Amino acid sequence: MTKLRLAIVGAGPAGIYAADILLKAERKFDVSIDLFDHLPAPYGLVRYGVAPDHPRIKGIITALRDVLDRGDIRIFGNVRFGQDLTLDDLKQHYNAVIFATGAIKDADLDIPGIDAAGSFGAADFVSWYDGHPDFPREWPLDAASVAVIGNGNVALDVARVLAKHAEDLLVTEIPANVQAGLEASQVTDVHVFGRRGPAQVKFTPLELRELGELRDVDMVVYDEDFDYDEASRTAVASNKQVMVIDRVLQSWRQRPGVNNAGGEASRRLHLHFWAKPVEVKTDDSGRVAALVYERTRPDGQGGVIGTGELREVPIQQLYRAVGYFGSPLPGVPFDKKHGVIPNHEGQVLHKDSNERVPGVYATGWIKRGPVGLIGHTKSDAMETISHLINDQASWWQPTDPSPEAIPALLAERGVAWTDLDGWHRLDEHEVALGAPHERARIKVVDRDEMVRVSRGE
Ligand SMILES: Cc1cc2nc3c(=O)[nH]c(=O)nc-3n(C[C@H](O)[C@H](O)[C@H](O)COP(=O)(O)OP(=O)(O)OC[C@H]3O[C@@H](n4cnc5c(N)ncnc54)[C@H](O)[C@@H]3O)c2cc1C
Repeated sequence: MTKLRLAIVGAGPAGIYAADILLKAERKFDVSIDLFDHLPAPYGLVRYGVAPDHPRIKGIITALRDVLDRGDIRIFGNVRFGQDLTLDDLKQHYNAVIFATGAIKDADLDIPGIDAAGSFGAADFVSWYDGHPDFPREWPLDAASVAVIGNGNVALDVARVLAKHAEDLLVTEIPANVQAGLEASQVTDVHVFGRRGPAQVKFTPLELRELGELRDVDMVVYDEDFDYDEASRTAVASNKQVMVIDRVLQSWRQRPGVNNAGGEASRRLHLHFWAKPVEVKTDDSGRVAALVYERTRPDGQGGVIGTGELREVPIQQLYRAVGYFGSPLPGVPFDKKHGVIPNHEGQVLHKDSNERVPGVYATGWIKRGPVGLIGHTKSDAMETISHLINDQASWWQPTDPSPEAIPALLAERGVAWTDLDGWHRLDEHEVALGAPHERARIKVVDRDEMVRVSRGE
């Protein structure tokens, strides 16, 4: 029987679901899968993106772990594609590769002053509070008034983590440096800005409602933002999700704190709609001092246009949460405009000719762009895998498909890779760190320590 030796690069949900779907698929050949990730621990953004105070979503890790624990997928953690392994290496040892490398960087926001001191990408802050090993350990939460730009779930995650009192995050898996950073926070006001109206937001009702339940945080909405046009009224009446969002926001209009008057909490979380950021102003030392935004209004076609009215909110820090962006991989086509690997339903295409690149596939956020929930990566993987199965005639013909070749190559290159047993060791270690504090786990952040614990050194 023919055998498919498959490399999957990226052990986030997209990569793990792809492996699972292929192993369970009806097919006329055997399969052996090697799964690579440049991090010493698996699960991608489920571990390093999903907010620590969302344990139910973090719990998806249990299902992903069950897939790995079946034992029919070989794991190589702490191996970076493009550095420790190249496309040519993979061609020599596999029949095909699936890239599932996701996205970790912030999309740009091109306004004057955006690079000032105190202006950050939300993705970097997320990586800090979720204990990603490759980001700085310190985060200066020294601002009283902070702007978050964006109207998606990541903007709400960032605003919530900033507004929440540190002791209310202590029950989570946050590492000690994050706890200390949040405890030192000077924040009193978090302002979230969206270009469009309450009926056009991209966040989901559950994430929004949660904001209203934060202890000692007043939700501040402004009456002027609720003068709905016809399109907004139709959206509220016809779309259940928009209807629930509207209901939540309207309930906050009845609370003390509306229009920023009468609230009693020590922190406030303001939602500003119809607000298009136009400039970040700085003080004499070049530090963020204010956000200038233009008031917008609906254009009657589902979009917005500027009204010309400029307003200014004093802030000392700013986070742009306007989307994630994928990173190019050496030797692999890349669409610089959209931050994805160009592909047709997961079959990778040459950038200019649009012709297929045999043996190379993509799935997850690097395939379709950084939108959608974890569950969407499953349907993504199904599409990619069905092409991989049908493309048998164009798979690579490796010169050395033996399973021993890859560990030998990595050892020769001095790569300290981690395997499934190592991931179990790290998992048990983190759970043990949390136990004395009655927490489910405390994350290890330092990459060398992660590797040492995983390798039992
Ligand atoms: C802040 C944030 C919060 C979110 N919250 C939720 C939520 O509450 N609920 C929900 O359903 N979804 C949520 N999502 C979306 C969810 O995280 C994504 O849908 C999902 O993680 C995408 O999966 P992926 O496997 O494509 O990418 P990722 O999860 O990013 O996995 C990619 C993997 O590839 C690895 N990799 C990258 N480059 C290389 C390389 N060169 N060599 C080797 N390995 C590499 C990375 O280390 C990573 O492990 C959130 C996303 C973000 C950013």
